[in-house]
Formats: sequence, structure tokens, C-alpha cells
Amino acid sequence: MPYFDHNSTTALADTAREVWLRVQAENWHNPSSPTRGAARARIWLDSYHEALAVLLGGEPAHYVFNSGATEGAYAVLGHWAARLPAKARIAVAATEHACVLAAAARFFPGLIDWLPHDAAGVVSVAAVRAALDAGAAGVVVMAANNETGVIQPWSEIAAISRAAGGGAGVPYLCDAAQWLGKIPGSGLGSCGAWVIASGHKFGAPKGVGFVKMPAADPDFSTQGGGLQEAGHRAGTEDVAGIAALAAALVECEQKHVVWESQRLGWRESFERELLAALPGTRIVAAGTERLWNTVFAVMPHTEHSRWIARLDKRDAQVSTGAACTTGKDGPSHVLAALGVAPGDARRALRISAGWGTTEADWAALLAALRDVGAELKGG
Ligand code: PLP
Repeated sequence: MPYFDHNSTTALADTAREVWLRVQAENWHNPSSPTRGAARARIWLDSYHEALAVLLGGEPAHYVFNSGATEGAYAVLGHWAARLPAKARIAVAATEHACVLAAAARFFPGLIDWLPHDAAGVVSVAAVRAALDAGAAGVVVMAANNETGVIQPWSEIAAISRAAGGGAGVPYLCDAAQWLGKIPGSGLGSCGAWVIASGHKFGAPKGVGFVKMPAADPDFSTQGGGLQEAGHRAGTEDVAGIAALAAALVECEQKHVVWESQRLGWRESFERELLAALPGTRIVAAGTERLWNTVFAVMPHTEHSRWIARLDKRDAQVSTGAACTTGKDGPSHVLAALGVAPGDARRALRISAGWGTTEADWAALLAALRDVGAELKGG
């Protein structure tokens, strides 16, 4: 069945499943207890911190495992709010994920300045520099957008944020939930940003992710009552889930070396054929650098729920946009920020492939879209 909703979540990767089962069977102990089994679990846990540092950069101790990007957004922005001067303002991209926007609104109510972006949603480095010059005390720009797949210049934003504040640096939060696993993550851990991510976006189980601190910050503590994760995040660690996250990331980092350009080619020819097959279709942010797996298309004829229901009958699974906001009233805030009219936004379909998606899956999806388009055109 062609599954094209990988930006929402992915199936467990084979290596992640194997590692998860093995750790559950052999290293299920609580790493904080004094037993011999626990000592072994602690060693394994340390090795996963090491693995992330090797893959992404930075110090192993600066990785704090948690339940994922939503928890990470609240932890990081809550931490900033506690540390920054009262009334400090932060500069935020309007196309951030809903969890980041919600955390920003909670911890910086009335203190958010929206960063300008181009028609595709890309925030320029100049816009961030202007915000910093105007006194922004924090910057929030994701690595890649979950709906459009648009890629942001996070590395350059990290560099200017690091140098801002007269060299003292201004904190930068980079939500890498959609970048990791799809594009090489090297440098994310050493760029000076606060990075958040969720393992289930790249083949790990749901409910495990991490925050990468830019540097040692003993005050970063999301919750109390235990000294897990060096006191940064109390609560018994999900060692098997963390092991699976590290294994899944290794697998993805190997995959894009070999396959990324081929997968991008498949997406590009799908887009060309879709536009030819269904006149009136529009690809959001076409012509802008995007994730190799993501197509956000405004469809002709009728609203997305009807497209999705009919595609589903043909075993083709796509979505309307972010899964977290499925069922909420109104069109996607990302499309609204891009100036897409509400009527058009209600016809948007998000199509997101995975590493396991084949060329034949893309062809099957195109055929299903063509059939459904013919049906819907006829009313
Ligand atoms: N950030 C982005 C860009 C996402 O796509 C998602 C999930 O859709 C999240 C954050 C939230 O991730 P989670 O639900 O795993 O906490």
C-alpha cells in the first residue's frame, strides 16, 4: 500500500526494531539503580549519547533524551523564558510547527516578533540579522518545514546568532524534526543551536527524541524528581527506545549518501507528471529547495477531505498537512503565512515519501490521483 505520510510518522526501521528488541530483552534494567544489570544499561545509554555526538556533532553530554520535539520545544522555550530578562522579545518564523508556536505563545506572550519570509516561507539570513540588530533576545527557525518541505538556512542563522549580542551569543532554537533522517545531520549538533527532534520521524519508535543543548547548561532542567540525563530531564530513561533512535539515525545517515539524489529525481518527475495529468494543480513552494520526500500540492476541483477519502479507497495514503492539527478548524497556518487563499488551502494535500518508497509507489500514487481527479471532475 503506498504510504505517503512519512512526515507524520514512519514505520519502525529494521535495525531499530532489532536493536529495540535486543535491548528490551537484555538491557531492560533501570540505568539509575545500583545493580550490575543497571550498570550495563548505563554504559549502553552513554554509548547512545556518543553515537549522536559522532553523527551530528557536539559533546555527548549535551544531548538530553526525552519524548520528542513537542516536549523539547516547551523545555527549551520555558528555559529561555526563565533565563532571559523580563519582557525579552523573541523572533520566530511564522511557519514553525504548531508545538513550537504554542510553546512560544505560552512562554513569551505578547513578546513574539514574526520574522519576514519569502513567498515560499524561507527566512533570509538578512531578516534574522535585522531582528537581532533590533534587539531580539532569541531566534526560532526550523530546519525544514513539515508541510511544504522547505529548507531554512539554519547553519547561517546559527552562525549569526552565535556572534550576536556583542559576541555573547543569542539563543537559537532549531526544530530539526523533519530534517533529521532525511538530510545529513552532520553539523546540527555543533552549530550552536538548541536542537529538538523526534525519533519516530525517521524510523525509531514514537515517544523518544532529544534536545541538543548548545553547550553545558546545568540550569537546563525540564522537570525534577530524578537525576536522569545528568539532571536535565528527570524520569526513567527508555533505554530501548533511545537505542532504536540511534540505530535508526545511523541507518538514515547511510541511506542518504547512496540514495538521496535518486529519491529527489523521483519526486521531481512525480511533480512534473502530476501537473501535466491534473491541470489546475499547484505545488506549494515549487522552485524552492525542499526535502526530497515532500510535495505539498493544492489540488483542483474539491476540498482535500474528499480527495483523501477516495485515495484511501485505492490504498493510497496521503494527508492534509500536519497530523497534529488534523481535525482543527481552518486551513493550515503555514499556507496562511504563505498567503495561500483559504479556499485553496482547503484543497491542499501533503504527500511525503520515505526511504522505502519505490518508484513504483510514486507511479501508483500518480495513477490513483489521476483516477480520483477524473471522478471528482465529473462531480
Ligand atoms: N516539529 C515538527 C517540524 C514536526 O513535524 C513535528 C511532528 O509532526 C513536531 C515538531 C512534533 O513532534 P512530536 O509530535 O513527535 O512531539
